[in-house]
Amino acid sequence: MIDLSKDITFLPGVGPKKAELLKQELKIVSYEDLLYYFPYKYVDRSKFYSVRELNANMPYVQVKGRLKSLKTIGKGRQSRMTATFSDGTGVMELVWFKGHKYIKENLDTNAEYIVFGKPSIFNGVINVVHPEMERVDATKQIIRSSLQAFYNTSEKMKRGYLNSRAMLKLMQNLFKSFLNDRIQETLPTPLRERLKLAPLNEALKAAHFPNDIKQLEYAQFRLKFEELFYLQLNILKIKTRRSKTVKGHVFKIVGDNLNKFYKNNIPFELTGAQKRVIREIRHDMGSGKQMNRLLQGDVGSGKTLVALMVMLIANDNNYQACLMAPTEILANQHYETISRMLEGLNIEIDILTGSTKKSKRNELHEKLLNGELNILIGTHALIEDIVQFKNLGLVVIDEQHRFGVAQRAKLWKKNRHPPHMLVMTATPIPRTLAMTIYGDLDVSVIDELPPGRKAIKTVHYFHNKRNNLNRFLHKELNKGRQIYVVYPLIEESEKIDFKNLTEGYEYMQHAFPGYEITMVHGKMKPKEKDEAMHQFVSGKSDILVSTTVIEVGVNVTNASVMVIESAERFGLSQLHQLRGRVGRGAEQSYCILMTDYKMSDETRKRMSIMTATTDGFEIAEADMKLRGPGDLEGTQQSGLPFNLKIASLGRDSQLLQYARNVAEEILNDDPLLEKDENLMLKKQLAKLTAKKMNWSMIS
Ligand code: ADP
Ligand code: MG
Repeated sequence: MIDLSKDITFLPGVGPKKAELLKQELKIVSYEDLLYYFPYKYVDRSKFYSVRELNANMPYVQVKGRLKSLKTIGKGRQSRMTATFSDGTGVMELVWFKGHKYIKENLDTNAEYIVFGKPSIFNGVINVVHPEMERVDATKQIIRSSLQAFYNTSEKMKRGYLNSRAMLKLMQNLFKSFLNDRIQETLPTPLRERLKLAPLNEALKAAHFPNDIKQLEYAQFRLKFEELFYLQLNILKIKTRRSKTVKGHVFKIVGDNLNKFYKNNIPFELTGAQKRVIREIRHDMGSGKQMNRLLQGDVGSGKTLVALMVMLIANDNNYQACLMAPTEILANQHYETISRMLEGLNIEIDILTGSTKKSKRNELHEKLLNGELNILIGTHALIEDIVQFKNLGLVVIDEQHRFGVAQRAKLWKKNRHPPHMLVMTATPIPRTLAMTIYGDLDVSVIDELPPGRKAIKTVHYFHNKRNNLNRFLHKELNKGRQIYVVYPLIEESEKIDFKNLTEGYEYMQHAFPGYEITMVHGKMKPKEKDEAMHQFVSGKSDILVSTTVIEVGVNVTNASVMVIESAERFGLSQLHQLRGRVGRGAEQSYCILMTDYKMSDETRKRMSIMTATTDGFEIAEADMKLRGPGDLEGTQQSGLPFNLKIASLGRDSQLLQYARNVAEEILNDDPLLEKDENLMLKKQLAKLTAKKMNWSMIS
C-alpha cells in the first residue's frame, strides 16, 4: 500500500523552492495533499488537427508535426524566437517572447512534437504564441489523457514556474510513483459496490487523467459522494451518540408561572407557528433526552416570546434559564421586554453584560449560585467561567449565527448535566448548509408572521432622487413615525466610512430641522451607545443614523422606514436583516435602498431580488447562487470538521441529501459504528476529523 503521508519533497520534480511554494500557496505538504488537489477544468485533447485546417477563429487546438528551424529575431528585450513547424499538410510558425534560454536548451529541431495552443494569424501565416510542447517519443512514457486537467495556481506560483502545466507534470510523476501499488480504499467494498461507486484508485486517477467525460463524471461522483457522506456521517454520529449517552433534565410540570403568564400577561394571541414550536420544544424537554434544537424564524416572527415561554417552563420545574444575545443593545432590549412581560409573576430576572459593575456582578454571581435568580439575560459575559449556576436547565442563544461553536460549547458545560439548548436564528440559511452545519440539531421553524403585518415595500433609489426621498421621509415623520438610516462601516475603509456616517448625520440635521436625530456607531462607549439607542427606542428621537450595530433583533414597532445608504456594500442576507428592523407594527413600512447610478451586475441583481421578495429563504437561496458556492464555503467552512476538496454545498445539494440518507441508514443499523463491516468508516472518520477540534460535545 502506498504511504500517502510521504513528504512532497520526495516526489521527483519537487525541489526545495517548489516545495515551499506548494506549501505556502496551496498548503500541499504530502503526497496525499497533492493527490487531492483537483483540477478546476478539463480541455479536450482527443482531437488532432492538421496545419491546413487551422484558422485564427479556432480556440485551443493541438497539432502533431516536426519542428524545423529555430531562430532568434531582434535583440535584447524586444527579441523573440520563432520556429517553423510542419506536419506535411502545411507550415505554421511558433513564437516565443520570453524563456529563450530554456527553449534553446530543451527543444530539438527535427524532432516530432505535439503542439498545443491558440492559433492566430500574422503576416498571412498561421502561428501559435507560447505553445505547449510535448515530444512525441516522450509522451509514450508519461501518463496522458484525452481530457487535459487544468489546475488553479497563484501568481506567485506562476512566477516560480509552477503553472497549471507544471502541476500536471507533478501529478504525472505522482501517479508514476504509484504505478505498481494501490491507494488504500476509504469506503467499504460492499457499500461501494451496492452504491455502484468507482474504486478510489480508479477515481483518483480519472479525476486527474480522464479519458472521456463519462469516466470523469463517474470518478467525480465517487469522490464527491465520499466527502459529503463522511461529513454527514460525522454530524449524524455526534447526534446519535449524544441522544444515546446524554441524559436530559425532564421538565414535566406545567406550572404556575407559565399558566399565570398565559392567562394574565401574554400581550397577544400566539400565532399557530409559535404554538406548534412551543409544543415541539416542550416535547423535547419532557422526553428525558437533552434538547438541541434550532429555532429558525424570519425577522419579526416572534421568537422572543417563544424563548420566554420555554424559560418559564424551566422555572416551573425548578431550573434556572439563561438567554444570551450577541450585543449589549439586544441584551438590554430583551431584558426590558421580558421584565415588562413578567410583571406580577414571581420570577427573579436580571441582566449581565460587559458593562455590568463589579459590585452588581458579585451580587449576581451569588444569586445565581444560591438559586435566587430564575432567569439571566446577557451577552458573551455569560460564558465566562466565573458565572456559575445552581441548577441551569435551559440555555437560549439568540441570533445564534453570531456566535461560534466554541461559545456554544462553553454554555453546555455550565451545568453538571448539560442544559437543554435552544438556539435561535433569523438568518435563513440554504437547506444544504443547514443540513451540514446544523445537521446535528433538530429544527423548528416559525413560518408565519404575527397577524396584521403588512408586507414591507422596498424601493431602490439612485442618489439623484434624494429630494424625493426627503419629501417622503417628511411625510412619514409627520405621521409620527420613526426612521432608520444605516451606513456601512467596515474595518478596511473605516475612516472614510466614518466620515460618511457623520456627514450623513449632519446632512439629516440640516434637512430635517425640528426633528430629534440620534447617531449610533460601534466606536461609542457601551453606555453612550445604549443611551443613544434608548432615545430612539423610547420614541424621544425621530431618526436614528447608525452603522449596522442595529442589525440584529432591535425592535421598535413605531419605526416604519429603513433607509440603507450605499446599499451595494451590503450582502443580501444583511440587507434582509436590516429591512427586518421595520414592519414590526401594524403600519405600512418601507425599505429604501440607495445606490449610485453606476452599479455592477451583481449589485443590480441584489437590488432587484430585494425589491422583488421579502421571503428570507428565497433570499438565502438567491444569495448562495449569486455569491457562488465557493464564496459561501470560504466563509462557512470554518464550521466544517474538514474542508471539502471536490464537492460543493452549493452545487451538489442533491448528492448531499443522498449521502445523508446513506449515512442515516448505516447509523440506524449501527449507531456507534461498532460492527466489523463499518470498521473502515470509523477509522476514516477518525482520520478526517482528527485535525480539527473535537466538537462531539457541542450542540
Ligand atoms: P424576532 O423573531 O425577529 O426575534 P421578535 O420576537 O422581536 O421577533 O418579535 C417581533 C415583534 O412581534 C415584537 O414586537 C413582538 O412583540 C411581536 N409579536 C410576537 N409575537 C406576536 C404575536 N403572536 N402576535 C402579535 N405580535 C407578536
Ligand atoms: Mg429577535
